[in-house]
Amino acid sequence: MIIEPKIRGFVCITAHPNGCAQKVKNEVAVAEASPIRSGPKKVLVIGSSTGYGLSSRIISAFSCKAATLGVFFERPSTNGKPASAGWYNTVAFEKEAVKRDLYAKSINGDAFSNEIKDKVIETIKKDLGKVDCVIYSLASPKRIDPADGTIYKSCLKPIGASFENISLDTNKGEIQEVSLEPATEDDINQTVKVMGGEDWELWMEALAKNDLLTSDCKTVAYSYIGPEVTWPIYKNGTIGVAKLDLDRASEEIGNKYGIESYVSVNKAVVTQASSAIPVVPLYISILYKIMNQKGTHEGCIEQIVRLFKDRLFGENKELDLDGRIRVDDWEMDPDVQQKVADIWPQVTTENLKELTDFNIYQKEFLELFGFGIEGIDYNEDVNVEKEINHLV
Ligand code: NAD
Repeated sequence: MIIEPKIRGFVCITAHPNGCAQKVKNEVAVAEASPIRSGPKKVLVIGSSTGYGLSSRIISAFSCKAATLGVFFERPSTNGKPASAGWYNTVAFEKEAVKRDLYAKSINGDAFSNEIKDKVIETIKKDLGKVDCVIYSLASPKRIDPADGTIYKSCLKPIGASFENISLDTNKGEIQEVSLEPATEDDINQTVKVMGGEDWELWMEALAKNDLLTSDCKTVAYSYIGPEVTWPIYKNGTIGVAKLDLDRASEEIGNKYGIESYVSVNKAVVTQASSAIPVVPLYISILYKIMNQKGTHEGCIEQIVRLFKDRLFGENKELDLDGRIRVDDWEMDPDVQQKVADIWPQVTTENLKELTDFNIYQKEFLELFGFGIEGIDYNEDVNVEKEINHLV
C-alpha cells in the first residue's frame, strides 16, 4: 500500500517501513564512523525503539560491537494498518545487526510490569550471562504500578502558579498564547511515579538480585534541564520534579549495587516525547537555528556518540555540581542561550520561518515516522507487515 503521514495532534498515526529503515541505516553509518573500543559488550536498553534509546542501542551495537537486548512498547501492523515507527525501527535495527553477526533480541511490552522484567532476566540468563551496561530511556504518559495495579498518569504542568507564554502549534505553524493551570499535589506525585526513578531502581534491583550485572557495569538514565524560558513547564514543573527523583535513584543504585550509576542531561531534540511538551517545539525551532548557524547542532545519534565516547566510556569524567553528566553543554552555551532569549519575544506566526528553523523541526518530526527521508520512493507500494525476527 501507499502510506502517507496522518497527523493527529502531536503524533503521526502512520509510519513508513522503508523510511524508518533508511533513517536507522543513516544512524548506523554515524555509529560505524565512531568506533568505541573501550565500550560495553552486553547492553540492555530499556526504551530502545525510538529517540535517545534507539540511538543508544545503535551506538552500543555498531560503535561498540555489543550484544544488545532492547525493551520497548510498540504496535505491530494489524488489519493492513502500518505498525508504529518504533516497530519498523527495530525491524531495521535487527536486520543491520544480523548482517554484522551481532546479537540483537527484543522484548515488546510494558517495561513497568513484572512480566517484562522476568522475560528480560530469563533472556539475559540464557543468552548473555550478565550485562555491563543498562540504559534507561523510557518516556511514557502512564505507569501501572506492578505492586498493586494502580494506574499513574504523568502530566506536564507548572507548579505553584499558572504559566502563560507563547507556544507553537506545530500543525498550523502558528504562534499562540498558552496558559497552563498549576499542578495539584496529586499531579506531581503521579508524574514522579511514572517518570521518576522508582522503575529504574526496580529494574536494577531485579538485575542485581539475579546476579546479572558485571562488577564494572554502568547504568544511565536520561534527563533534561533546558533554558529558563521553559523552566516553569519543565525544570520547575511536574516533569522536573520527576527528573530530580532520577538523581536520588541514581545515587541509591550506585550505593546499593556498587556500580557506576549516572543521570545524563541530554540536549533538546525532536522526538515523539518532546513534541508533546508545550513551549518546547518553539524552543527547539529557535535552538536549531542558532546551533545550526554555529555548527554545533546535534541529533540523538551525535549526542549518544559523545556520551559514550567521551564520557561514559571515555576520558572525560567531569560531572556537574549535582553529579550529572552534561551533554547538553553546547545547548546551554551562554552565547546560544542569549541568542534564544533575544529571538523568543520577537517570534510571530508571520516571521516564524525566518527567525527559527521551524522547517527543520517539521522535517525532523515527519522523519521520526519515516516520512520525507531522502532516497525513499513514497509512491512505491509497500508491504506494511514486517516481522521482528528475534522478538522474545
Ligand atoms: P521517545 O518517545 O522517542 O522514546 C520513548 C521510548 O520508551 C520508546 O522506545 C518507547 O517504546 C518506550 N516506552 C514508552 N513506554 C513504555 C513502556 N510502558 N514499556 C516499554 N517501553 C516503553 O522519547 P525520548 O525523547 O527519546 O526520551 C527518552 C528519555 O530521554 C526520556 O527520559 C526523556 O525525558 C529524555 N530526554 C529527552 C530529550 C528530548 O529532547 N527528546 C532531551 C533530554 C532527555
